[in-house]
Amino acid sequence: MKIKENLSLIKSRIPESVVLVAVSKTKSNKLIMEAYNSGHRVFGENKVQEMVLKWETLPKDIEWHMIGHVQRNKVKYMAPFVSLIHGVDSLKLLIEINKQAKKNDRTINCLLQVHIAKEETKQGFNVIELDLVFKKLQSLENIQIKGLMGMATFTNDSSLIESEFKSLKSKFDVLKLNNKKFDVLSMGMSGDYKSAIIIGSTMIRVGSKIFGERN
Ligand SMILES: *Cc1c(COP(=O)(O)O)cnc(C)c1O
Repeated sequence: MKIKENLSLIKSRIPESVVLVAVSKTKSNKLIMEAYNSGHRVFGENKVQEMVLKWETLPKDIEWHMIGHVQRNKVKYMAPFVSLIHGVDSLKLLIEINKQAKKNDRTINCLLQVHIAKEETKQGFNVIELDLVFKKLQSLENIQIKGLMGMATFTNDSSLIESEFKSLKSKFDVLKLNNKKFDVLSMGMSGDYKSAIIIGSTMIRVGSKIFGERN
């Protein structure tokens, strides 16, 4: 796998202001170190235990992003080091993250996941819930909501994907009006990051286009 070449190709195609999260789930430390040695520092994982193991064994200047669905009883394991949790999809989870952040004497950055896809299985708040969550956030002092995350429907229909990205972007713009700390819109993966960026993504999560297909 030409990991270094894949990374520089993607970086040459995206604006410098867009953050590239290299999604390393299921991939070995050896492959991650190939990306690290080419200068990359931001990695995404979707399972807490796997991320903790990698954090323990890999260089400490790596920024670890949790991009998957998070169970509340696992938050404590990543609370000491996680740099951004993308998939926050319930108020109960936010309350637990706040509690564990406080125990570790830190603030944990979070994104609220919004349900934009057609598939019911995909996680996330709907737009009405999102407004309720915002009202309750004030009391949570050890979390910082940095923005929104969304996943489009798994489909070849690019117009459907684009309309889902556009609905997420417009929700992001509305919330940003009253929240100056809101500056991350995490949308776009290997297959759709180009259109996500055109629509306004500031952070893309790319796995297979860097590390190859997963088994
Ligand atoms: C696996 C995963 C990705 C990366 O997917 P690729 O298609 O391999 O780029 C992005 N986001 C989430 C939430 C994922 O679980």
